[in-house]
Amino acid sequence: MKILLHACCAPCLMAPYKNLSESHDITVFWYNPNIQPYREYLRRLRTFREYTQKIGVKVIEDLSYPLEDWLYKASILSRKSNVLRCRFCYADRLFKTAKKAKDLGMDAFTTTLLLAPYQKHEMVKEIGGSIASRVGIKFYYEDMRKWFDESEKMARNAGIYRQGYCGCVFSEADRYWRDKI
Ligand code: SF4
Repeated sequence: MKILLHACCAPCLMAPYKNLSESHDITVFWYNPNIQPYREYLRRLRTFREYTQKIGVKVIEDLSYPLEDWLYKASILSRKSNVLRCRFCYADRLFKTAKKAKDLGMDAFTTTLLLAPYQKHEMVKEIGGSIASRVGIKFYYEDMRKWFDESEKMARNAGIYRQGYCGCVFSEADRYWRDKI
């Protein structure tokens, strides 16, 4: 099956790519306007590029970074709940991935957001399914959490940059500020 695999970052790409490419034709897609600040975005993008070039992966990048628009929507939703903000963030990235996969004539799309246990796994799965129906392309679901330890180990062994928070400034505050007060 030809699958467009959305990658949220290099460490989360490692084991999913390795395992999925054993039985599928995988192209990796970068689209992550949720990563802030911009310097952090560039750092994760640079790590992603170094890794994918090293192992010879087919890559498509969407480098759009609508910061004001993203923060405006995320701020409004954040005031209501973090869950709504993450829902918007997942849907934004998955919709873009599904559209790209459809435009390229692929069979399916999926995402490395299904890897980390700290992501809202059931929400990612549900949004992927509903976007698949809207766009008219299959969402390839696999519970990638079984590969999380393997991906962590691969990232440690490769010595690549491993970020300390999910991506947006809200998650950065949760990680480094709120816990310390
Ligand atoms: S915490 Fe992570 S998933 Fe949720 S909005 Fe921020 S970057 Fe997106």
